[in-house]
Amino acid sequence: MTDATKVNLLGLSPKKMVEFFESIGEKKFRATQVLKWIHQKGAENFDEMTDVSKKLRAKLQDISEIRAPEIVSQNISQDGTRKWVIRTEGGGNNCVETVLIPDGDRATLCVSSQVGCSLDCSFCSTGKQGFNRNLTPAEIIGQVWIAIKSFGLMDPNGPRRVTNVVMMGMGEPLMNFEPVVDSMILMMDDHAYGLSKRRVTLSTSGVVPKIYELAKRTDVSLAISLHAPTNPLRDELVPINKKYPIAELLEACQHYLDSLPDKRHITIEYTMMAGVNDQEHQAYELVELLKNLECKINLIPFNPFPNSGYEKPSNNQTRRFQKILADNGYTVTVRTTRGDDIDAACGQLVGDFHDKTRRSQKYIELKEVNS
Ligand code: SAH
Ligand code: SF4
Repeated sequence: MTDATKVNLLGLSPKKMVEFFESIGEKKFRATQVLKWIHQKGAENFDEMTDVSKKLRAKLQDISEIRAPEIVSQNISQDGTRKWVIRTEGGGNNCVETVLIPDGDRATLCVSSQVGCSLDCSFCSTGKQGFNRNLTPAEIIGQVWIAIKSFGLMDPNGPRRVTNVVMMGMGEPLMNFEPVVDSMILMMDDHAYGLSKRRVTLSTSGVVPKIYELAKRTDVSLAISLHAPTNPLRDELVPINKKYPIAELLEACQHYLDSLPDKRHITIEYTMMAGVNDQEHQAYELVELLKNLECKINLIPFNPFPNSGYEKPSNNQTRRFQKILADNGYTVTVRTTRGDDIDAACGQLVGDFHDKTRRSQKYIELKEVNS
C-alpha cells in the first residue's frame, strides 16, 4: 500500500538520508546503516535491520517506508538478457522498462529516467509515444534494486549482479536532472552500490546547458546520441539540435571532459539508418567533425519498430562505415542486438502509458494513413 505521508527511503541520496535522520533527531551514522540495509542487503522492511534498535525501527516504520516500484513482468531471453516492465506510482498503466544485459564478466543495466520522452527523435519508439512524467529517484534507483534482487538474496560480499549502469532506457535523463543525479550518486556510493564512476554512463541527445550542470555535480561517463554529422540532418533526426546545434554540443562535451579529474573519453552513439546517415561521405564527415574530441564511437544498427519509416543498413554497409572511421584512428564498436526475443533492444522499449502530449495519438493517426 502506498502511504503518501511516509518518506520513501529507497530514493534518498546519502546526503538526503543524513538530513532525514537529523530531522528526526537521530545520529548521522544511522543514515549509513540504513543505506547499507536497503541497497546492499535489499531490506524491504525495518524488522530486518538488526543493528538498529527496536525503538528506532518502530519510529521508522511509522514515518517512512522502503517502497520499490511494482514489477508488472519479468522476462528472461535466450541469451540471458532480462527485461522488467515496471509500473510507476499513481498512474494506472504508466510503465517503463529496464533491461539487464550480461556479457562475459560484465552485466550492464539499462535504466529508464522518464515515462516516455518529450524530445521526439524521429527514429525512437519512446519518442513517438510522447511524454507522461519524470520518474522519482525511488523509481530510478528502484530499477537497480529490482535487477539485483532478481538473483535472490542480496549479498554485499557475493558476485556483482550489475557491474555497469547506462541511463539509456526510456526518457532523456537530463530532462529529469535532480532525480537522475541523486540516483547516480547512489549507484556510485560505497554504502550503496559502489559502482565505479567509469561504469555509470549517462546518455543524452544533447541538452547542452544541463551538460554544464552535470559537470558541476558528478563525474559519471558521458555518452552523446549524435546520429548525424551535419546540422540539417541532425535537426531532422534529433529535433533538440535546432535549439543546441552540433558545435555547441561538442563544446559542452569538451568542457565535460576537461572538468573530470581523470582522463576519459566521450562515447558517441550513432544509430545507423539505411540511406539516411550510413553513407560513406557521412563517415568522412564524422571523421572530420570529431577530430578534436577524445571519443569512442558506438554504431547502433537501427532497431525497427512498426511504421517507423526507417530500415537498418546491411551488415556490409555498417562494416564499410565502421572501417572508414577505424582507418582514420577512431575506436569504433558496433552494438549487437541483444534480447531480441523479448523486445529488449534499444529503441524497442515502449512501456505503456498515458501520453500527456497527445503525440501518440497523432502518431497512431499517421500510422493509419500510411498503412
Ligand atoms: N534519451 C537518451 C537516452 C535514451 S535512448 C538519448 O537519446 O541518448 C538510448 C539510445 O538508443 C540513444 O542513443 C538512442 O538514440 C538510441 N535509439 C533510440 N531508438 C533507437 C532505435 N529504434 N534503434 C536503435 N537505437 C535507438
Ligand atoms: Fe528521447 Fe532519447 Fe528517444 Fe530521443 S532517442 S526521443 S531523447 S529517449
